[in-house]
Amino acid sequence: MKNRIVVLLCAAGFMVSLAGCSIVPFSDDVASSQEVKTEEADQEGEIDFSSQSGEEDVVVEDAEPADTQEVENEPEENTEKSDTEELDSPLAKAKVMAMQYDYDGAIELLKSQPDYEGDSEMKKAAEDFEAEKATCTPWPISEVTHVFYHTLVYDTDKAFDGDSDSGGYNQVMTTVDEFDKITQSMYEKGFVMVSLEDMAKKNEEGVMQSQAIMLPPGKKPFVLSQDDVSYYHYMDGDGMATKLVLDENGEVKNEYIEDDGSVSVGDYDMVPLIDSFVKEHPDFSYKGAKGIIALTGYNGILGYRTDISYQERPDDLNEDKKKWLDAHPDFDLEKEREGAKAVAEAMKANGWEFASHTWGHLNVGAIEIERLQADTQKWMDNVAPLVGGSDKIIFAFGADIIDSVENYSGEKFDYLKSQGFDYFCNVDSSQYWVQLTDSYLRMGRRNLDGYRMYYNPDMLSDLFDAGEVFDSSRPTPVPEM
Ligand SMILES: [Zn+2]
Repeated sequence: MKNRIVVLLCAAGFMVSLAGCSIVPFSDDVASSQEVKTEEADQEGEIDFSSQSGEEDVVVEDAEPADTQEVENEPEENTEKSDTEELDSPLAKAKVMAMQYDYDGAIELLKSQPDYEGDSEMKKAAEDFEAEKATCTPWPISEVTHVFYHTLVYDTDKAFDGDSDSGGYNQVMTTVDEFDKITQSMYEKGFVMVSLEDMAKKNEEGVMQSQAIMLPPGKKPFVLSQDDVSYYHYMDGDGMATKLVLDENGEVKNEYIEDDGSVSVGDYDMVPLIDSFVKEHPDFSYKGAKGIIALTGYNGILGYRTDISYQERPDDLNEDKKKWLDAHPDFDLEKEREGAKAVAEAMKANGWEFASHTWGHLNVGAIEIERLQADTQKWMDNVAPLVGGSDKIIFAFGADIIDSVENYSGEKFDYLKSQGFDYFCNVDSSQYWVQLTDSYLRMGRRNLDGYRMYYNPDMLSDLFDAGEVFDSSRPTPVPEM
């Protein structure tokens, strides 16, 4: 039986964008050609870990978090304790749930309190939530936009220092400063993060069905994703975070290596930046949804060197991996995997989701089915167990398994579907591109990067003013693709 198209919009923008947004890991993934032997190609990692002998010795120094709201948790136990009690009260929890548009959950929580009937404050709150809920209307899923980033640039002097990676960073990366401005602008315009499941999910028969995103007037949904987040070796020393870690409070933060080799912990990339933003502005998230992290596997995930190749050290192991292993004689694959798993679990508990970005950052449109199968198996073996699997695939290079806006069909689709993938994302420059059938949700994503801001600021005007956001420390012109 043929799949039924429920939604198909903005087909026109599709091909354009595939060309414009071939995105990323320039230095290591020249891989759009089938010929490329394995994962990474040439990288010149100028890694200097000499001042750092291993994870245990890492000194956590006073971070200078990109997010200035971030406060060191210094003593003052008394106030902290009462704050915590306050935040843990059912009423406080219910208020946050309602701010995140989960009115039913909030009301249910209050009504389940034994003292509800005699508590006028709780009753009043429940009434308010009912009233707010009544203002909500369903948002058409065909009009949900999806934006994405790569690893954010924290130190622009280092990223844009004129070395061979600079031009690529300038094109496809976004700086922390730009990201903060974009996030603030999108928040002010009423954008609210939703998950792909909020748009569509499988029913009991396994048929994908659209869902109702219920939002009050002035609010509009968007999907957020970030690609790679491997903290690839080639980025070392280029002014970006190196890892995601759990801090002493169990919160997900970044490590950033300072010039003197010391390690700072703070908000240096998208995940902790968004976590901090939502803490301050709960209404930026729909029922707790955050973004989707699209993971490759060849350099490990989230800054942990979790791939089996680091342990097996095959003869053709890439130079940068060899160099890293030489600098980390105490490397322990299980320890790396445990570290990644702990961070991934904390992220999932906090609203984040994970997707495949293919293990080797491959162009799924260009490769043969056998290569797609072998690569997917590597992702299943090396990445899926760490993140609890995934039913989402976000294609690298903005590629797609078919070269048209027709419904998916063919052996690549059948194979990926058989591997459990129900959500498929490519790159598209148009405001919305959503295709829902009985068997999948397919969605275009918009790159919010140096290239787009410099060359097509008008295409971003629904989200932010590129002229105000564009980081003045970027060399111009941004190189053409
Ligand atoms: Zn990528």
